[in-house]
Amino acid sequence: MINKSKLKQPIDILNIKKRKTSFEEVEKSLSDENALNESLRCLKCKNPPCVLGCPVGIKIPEFIDCISKGIISDAYQIISKDSFLPSICGRVCPQETQCEAKCVRGKAGQPVAIGRLERYVADKIKLEHFKSPKKGSNLKIAIVGSGPSGLTCAAQLCNLGYQADIFEALHIPGGVLTYGIPAFRLPRDVINFEIENLNRLGVKIYTNMVIGKTLTIDNLFEMGYSAVYISTGAGLPKLMGIPGEGLGGVYSSNEFLTRINLMHANKSDYDTPIKIPKRALVVGGGNVAMDVARSAVRLGADKVTVIYRREEAKMPARRDEILHAKEEGVEFIFSSTPIEFIGNSGKLEKVKYVNMKPTSEESSGKSHLVPVSGSEKEMEIDTAIISIGNSANKILVESEKSLEFRPDGRIVTDEATARTSRKYVYAGGDAVSGAATVILAMQAGKQAAYQIHKDLSIKSQT
Ligand SMILES: Cc1cc2nc3c(=O)[nH]c(=O)nc-3n(C[C@H](O)[C@H](O)[C@H](O)COP(=O)(O)OP(=O)(O)OC[C@H]3O[C@@H](n4cnc5c(N)ncnc54)[C@H](O)[C@@H]3O)c2cc1C
Ligand code: SF4
Repeated sequence: MINKSKLKQPIDILNIKKRKTSFEEVEKSLSDENALNESLRCLKCKNPPCVLGCPVGIKIPEFIDCISKGIISDAYQIISKDSFLPSICGRVCPQETQCEAKCVRGKAGQPVAIGRLERYVADKIKLEHFKSPKKGSNLKIAIVGSGPSGLTCAAQLCNLGYQADIFEALHIPGGVLTYGIPAFRLPRDVINFEIENLNRLGVKIYTNMVIGKTLTIDNLFEMGYSAVYISTGAGLPKLMGIPGEGLGGVYSSNEFLTRINLMHANKSDYDTPIKIPKRALVVGGGNVAMDVARSAVRLGADKVTVIYRREEAKMPARRDEILHAKEEGVEFIFSSTPIEFIGNSGKLEKVKYVNMKPTSEESSGKSHLVPVSGSEKEMEIDTAIISIGNSANKILVESEKSLEFRPDGRIVTDEATARTSRKYVYAGGDAVSGAATVILAMQAGKQAAYQIHKDLSIKSQT
């Protein structure tokens, strides 16, 4: 039976009043009835284009078919063969540009809500469904960084029979999932659940271990690891390089989000200092800027404005996130950028900004903007949060001379094999690609695990 509805089945959304004052998750899981109805919208295509749109190749029609038959545990097994973090991917992956963009139902109506169905399945499943670790090789692999790339590589290696140990610089694992993405999009218990699953699979995580400082890659090999996978992410915030960026009240997105997500500055029983903004300006137009703006609303800011240098249609943030931000009262200034932060006694008081327009080359495909002369304006603000992107941190650049890096700090690898310039050292995720997405970081981790397995199998035979 096919459900001919052209529209996705609805989900419950937290009411606006609660959204403005709490970090509770905004979008809820599909109800049982709506999940069943949504699963019946899938045509179970013979050559499913949606699978080609999924970077980790989840067998989408097969898991959706299990939902339609009410066998959720089988649906979970199918998903978890290709994705080790399904309840996270179901929430934060940009499905609208990946699997759902390819779904044939999207040609005459909305595509099947693949992301919501993935999340539904993962939310329904309890720990006991997860498999125990496989016994196999005695070889140990070290993973540097516990973001989605490192977690996926470790889990895949455990599945291939290796002992996979993760070394994480922070005191809590998860990378950007934990310190960047706010709880109203990705609740902490969801991340903990997935990490607990990986622990049960045999993955060990050592926190407060900064590779390059606490231990070097040489040390890891001396400790008996046969290979190393580096997935240190892109955690270094980019700044604008304009006057006044050093004033009190100007934050990078990382600092702002970390204070809330890791150090609980939003909770009255924690001492972490954070300024409750009266008038906050968020600079940028991506998902990070939306997360920052919506967090500022929840901190109690009177007014939150996002300033983005291009027009609205060019914003890289997900459409749903922009919509949610608008619903929560965030205001937008488009085609404009700050040129100076102005302060008094070291404290931010105003921003001077200017309109931007594309040069003639942009219409021919090249991306370049110039200020519109005479368009300068000022606005009173007491907080500014720069959310214009991140690059790879430079800790390893300084300590690991045997590795080759790009000038911006990204690690150079062979694209097909994830091998670095040092034998049995591999790298992937944002540390190689620059800031990207959770699923691409996971794809890199999975591929690297297979390559490590292949290279170590050849080594053991020679
Ligand atoms: C605020 C924000 C919101 C985002 N929202 C989305 C979204 O909705 N959907 C989406 O798909 N993507 C989103 N992204 C992007 C996505 O989170 C990243 O692409 C992804 O997390 C990259 O994974 P990774 O494992 O490569 O690196 P990371 O997640 O950055 O993890 C790297 C880990 O390595 C650790 N580390 C760094 N250096 C060392 C060292 N020397 N020794 C030991 N450990 C080290 C770090 O502490 C960190 O835990 C967002 C990013 C941000 C910042
Ligand atoms: S393309 Fe759409 S309809 Fe076809 S199998 Fe994939 S989800 Fe189902």
